[in-house]
Amino acid sequence: MFAQVILSISHTNIDRVFDYGVPAGLENRIRIGMRVRVPFGRGEKENEGYVVGLSRESEVKADKLKYITSIPDDFAIFSPEMIELAKWMKERYFCTLSSCLKTIMPGGIKDRNDYYVSVRYIRPAENFINYIGVYDGNKRKHKRAEVINFLEKNGEVRLAELKNAVKGADYAINELKKEGCVEVYDRQELSRAYTGCIEDKSEPVTLNDEQKTVVSVWEDERKNKNRPLLIHGVTGSGKTEIYIKIIEKVIAEGRQAIVLVPEISLTPLMTGRFIKRFGDLAAVTHSKMNRRERFNCWKRAADGEISVVIGPRSALFTPFDRLGVIIVDEEHEKSYISETTPAYNAVETAEKLCEISGASLVMGTATPSVKSIYRAYNGDIRYASLKNRAREGSHEPEIKTVDMRRELESGNRSVLSRELFAGIRENLKNGGQTMLFINRRGHSTFVSCRNCGYVLKCPHCDVSYKYHASGDRLVCHYCGNVIDKPNECPACGSTKIRYFGAGTQKIEESVKKYFPEAKVIRMDSDTVSGKNGYIDILKKFSNGEADILIGTQMIAKGHDFENVSLVGVLAADLSLNTGEYDAAERTFQLITQVAGRAGRGKKGGKVIVQTYSPDNPAVQAAANGSWREFYEKEIEYRKAMGYPPCVECAKIEFTGKDEKCVIKGAQDTADELKKYGVKILGPVPEIISKVKDEYRWSMTVKHTDAEAVRKAVSGTKAKMERELEASGVYINPRIL
Ligand code: ADP
Ligand code: ZN
Ligand code: ZN
Repeated sequence: MFAQVILSISHTNIDRVFDYGVPAGLENRIRIGMRVRVPFGRGEKENEGYVVGLSRESEVKADKLKYITSIPDDFAIFSPEMIELAKWMKERYFCTLSSCLKTIMPGGIKDRNDYYVSVRYIRPAENFINYIGVYDGNKRKHKRAEVINFLEKNGEVRLAELKNAVKGADYAINELKKEGCVEVYDRQELSRAYTGCIEDKSEPVTLNDEQKTVVSVWEDERKNKNRPLLIHGVTGSGKTEIYIKIIEKVIAEGRQAIVLVPEISLTPLMTGRFIKRFGDLAAVTHSKMNRRERFNCWKRAADGEISVVIGPRSALFTPFDRLGVIIVDEEHEKSYISETTPAYNAVETAEKLCEISGASLVMGTATPSVKSIYRAYNGDIRYASLKNRAREGSHEPEIKTVDMRRELESGNRSVLSRELFAGIRENLKNGGQTMLFINRRGHSTFVSCRNCGYVLKCPHCDVSYKYHASGDRLVCHYCGNVIDKPNECPACGSTKIRYFGAGTQKIEESVKKYFPEAKVIRMDSDTVSGKNGYIDILKKFSNGEADILIGTQMIAKGHDFENVSLVGVLAADLSLNTGEYDAAERTFQLITQVAGRAGRGKKGGKVIVQTYSPDNPAVQAAANGSWREFYEKEIEYRKAMGYPPCVECAKIEFTGKDEKCVIKGAQDTADELKKYGVKILGPVPEIISKVKDEYRWSMTVKHTDAEAVRKAVSGTKAKMERELEASGVYINPRIL
């Protein structure tokens, strides 16, 4: 027997299947999808490999053949579906099969033996039957009676459980053991993962008509074309309740469900809701879990102990064998795209997995991606909408934009417009809570000299330092470099160093100054630390321990605070100026999402959006709630400009320490790409042209035919990669 093995070493040169002989002693144990140890390379060093096929024949000559040395597990870590998915990912994300398999593989499987814990059990033994009732009413030996009665009722239990029920039973247990009445023994078990959820107080709801319609649309689509379903429902319209209903149906059929959520909205409240409804059948995974906890969740799913997994993008690789549905909440979120190799997009990978496994895909959001709306228009996916908030008395908030240029003209230099200022004061008086959102942490945007205009920049990156008031320091948000605030300008020696622009810290400072009576908390990556830092802040705010919450994106997502009646968006324009093709889309989504935080309860709500570009269509559409108009215009624009989703685009990045090599590498690659007849924009330096001492250039490859782009990029990468590597340039392509 021969095994086709992919090595765990991820390198393009060896990214192919190697045949190994299976020793007779292992033939019975080996299965496709298992890990194996194999000799490889010059020193015949032992390496890990993954079996992707088994055969009776091999092209390898007998004298060249090497043999598998051992098999570490007694189960396969990849199902045939996952191997197929990995192969698709390799093509789609221009990377090695090995790196895809390693992404799919459960974290921490390497030292999985540590993950079993010894658990002590107790159960009735041979003589048990003779002891039933013997000690009842016996004053001196009443503990024995209690132990016996407990075991009679419960049978085999964890020893800890018994000791908890019968306090001080140690002596009695020992005696009963000697008499052959009970047996105490150890069992190896996976330790249970801590899920960290808050108990959900809500009762199961009866779906309203809008929600029921969506569920029946799902059922209909599943029976027919089984296209992905997009649920476009305003915040608070009850999408989560629909997910729960769909999962109940899937479980009733004996199938399983994966729920993907952005890490940031994986709040204890949200997960608590699922745990409450599905109990022991559900498990949560998240990035703060340790390797053991992650492996546990994976193994329990593989063993069929659980049927629902909720987690961020990696939860997609849960080894269910009868997957019924994948739910992707907040499908528009950028965090579904991995930042490390393979840079997979969990939403499209989920779609592929559904195609492979026959499951259905359900995507939900209040602000769909332009891509999803475009696909819905084209009939590639099914569309359903929810227009009303589900909870009684909860209304869509009123949204108002304030032109900050006017504020300046009339002499208001503060970060708060007069309208927002008045709104906060009014809200404080009425006992309502306020959320203030600014998409930038730190104190100021940049630090510069009033005398000569010198801007303080990080020497390792092409970005200006941000001032952080705590500790009086300057911080580079790209590489983390920190310096003490200089007293003099490094260029001219003047002491007139000033801060410009505002971040969360500056806003906090101003708000505290204007409203000294208010309790203010700030939430950004500088104030959130540790496993529960994030949760602690949210809990404080939801308990009413603060009047005003100031924060970055972190506060924009999925929280349901009933008492928030005012939301301020301090600088709506920030996300408009990123230079990316989807800046308008991001701005529209951000404003709509933040606005959705207001008026969740009975009090109603108001949203004030401060902007320097009140005429911008994205800002206006978000303020008017006219999403249809926005998407239609945006799709027209993308068509005209040749941007995704109307035209297939790939971005190729080049990075390296020597800028000349980076430029040359990019140009040579462009020459190679031209042979494929695709359109090329660039190469040009990236907007941030240096990070951590590495120069960054990029170009965009376009074609109306998606396959043409993929072929050009993968062919070119294969050809150029080694040459570039030799000159210290790293090439990194991805589909936009
Ligand atoms: P979304 O996920 O769309 O933001 P949720 O599912 O979180 O919405 O629902 C918002 C609120 O409305 C929650 O407090 C939820 O308990 C409540 N809710 C949802 N559906 C119903 C319903 N059919 N009847 C009553 N309350 C509901
Ligand atoms: Zn100066
Ligand atoms: Zn830096």
